Amino acid sequence: MSERVRVRFAPSPTGPLHIGGVRTALYNYLFAKQHGGDFVLRIEDTDSQRFVPGAEQYIEETFKWLGLEYDESPSKGGSFAPYRQSERKEIYEQYVSELLDKGAAYIAFDTPQELEAKRAATNNFQYDASTRLQMRNSLTLPQDEVQSLIDGGTQYVVRIKIESGIDIKVNDLIRGEVIINSSVLDDKVVYKSADKLPTYHLANVVDDHLMKITHVIRGEEWLPSAPLHVWLYRSFGWEDTMPQFAHLPLLLKPEGNGKLSKRDGDRLGFPVFPLQWKDPKTDEISSGYRESGYLPEAVINFLSLLGWNPGNDREIFSLKELIDLFSFDRASKSGAKFDYEKAKWFNHKYIQATPNDKLAEMFRPVLAEKGLSAAPEYVAKVVALVKDRVSFVPELWQQASFFFVAPTSYDEKTVKKRWTAESPAQMGELIALLQGMDDFSAENQEKIVMKWIEDKQYHLGNVMNVFRLALVGEGKGPHIFDITTLLGKEESIERLKNAVSSINI
Ligand code: GLU
Repeated sequence: MSERVRVRFAPSPTGPLHIGGVRTALYNYLFAKQHGGDFVLRIEDTDSQRFVPGAEQYIEETFKWLGLEYDESPSKGGSFAPYRQSERKEIYEQYVSELLDKGAAYIAFDTPQELEAKRAATNNFQYDASTRLQMRNSLTLPQDEVQSLIDGGTQYVVRIKIESGIDIKVNDLIRGEVIINSSVLDDKVVYKSADKLPTYHLANVVDDHLMKITHVIRGEEWLPSAPLHVWLYRSFGWEDTMPQFAHLPLLLKPEGNGKLSKRDGDRLGFPVFPLQWKDPKTDEISSGYRESGYLPEAVINFLSLLGWNPGNDREIFSLKELIDLFSFDRASKSGAKFDYEKAKWFNHKYIQATPNDKLAEMFRPVLAEKGLSAAPEYVAKVVALVKDRVSFVPELWQQASFFFVAPTSYDEKTVKKRWTAESPAQMGELIALLQGMDDFSAENQEKIVMKWIEDKQYHLGNVMNVFRLALVGEGKGPHIFDITTLLGKEESIERLKNAVSSINI
């Protein structure tokens, strides 16, 4: 590729970003970085009616969290600024005039009522080459009337004039060449005088051109718009710099057919948004991957494989590896089923691979929420003992709470099964045994305790389970001498004493 690769992610701030949008952005990022190119964020906010406050900030925060840094964006700026379409009104006006001057577009005055009446009277009415001459527009009205309507403040729209019977080629990196005949297209509105704003199609094409975008990588819901976009490039005479298209397959529901929706997430209990989102109108909260304890690297990894495969069975990839390996040759044409269990599996894998001190750092807020704190080294050691049992950071609490708070109750079932008339005396001996140890290493404790049980011919299972019950409060947890070593001699003995005095049967 001779020219510098430039891609853009162009969301409309109409609410929280869907996880499918995050995947689109990720593929843009991977492609740009693989080619040493630029990754641009453009906010497409020309539809003021659908604008939702906070949505743009949400988008920027999402990518900050994921570590996918934009080279140019509304907050960062860049040589093609502004990157918010609502700040580019004058630019679009100039291009709308250009289309009008060229005769590639025309002004239409039809009111919503008139259009409604036409639709009611004509089957499958479409505003196009076959009908435009029956309508109220600058092609049918005398020029002076058009001018006086505009001067008199009559609202109008500008429509693109699509000639019929022309094959429009869309070159798609995933789907190959798609040919659409222009006769099926309608004369889409590209500008509205009411808000002095272009519609999505015009702004999108003009900006891709001005921002020197070389590849348009977006969701397949935009494939139907592509022929119109190609037509607009032709109308402006920009065919030579037209970007390559790549329309990504849909993310599908985990089961059945259709697009993954928020409702699927609610029903099956998983987030469909990267970050938690609070609806500014209803205050309704939707869960996010970040708040659910996902690591950004895990989210990137599992999204990368929803619509692309490396050509083998490998599943774990760093961002750097993905940048090297990504290719449209192995992007799939058909939709990718969203497998939430798999997403969890990825997170589990990434938790295991996270260094203990870093994981401890991430666990600290969970502890703080419970009003607890501990030395970072201690938390790191705790985390090391239990991390293989969790998929999410908050789950560390379920596995490790007893390292921070002594049990205040004891699992009844275990008590019933393991606590015998001999238990108090045995625990008394165990306390003395631990007390007398100078070397409190796990190995030494194990050697001495095991020998004691053997010498006394005690029931190994009962003694050890009562011991565990005293330390943990239930019959779970890591290796018992790893627990005592970490808790320390004093605390372990304290817990044994507490158990003896509080378990009465
Ligand atoms: N604003 C469109 C969106 O919300 C952009 C589509 C495109 O990438 O061209 O997805």
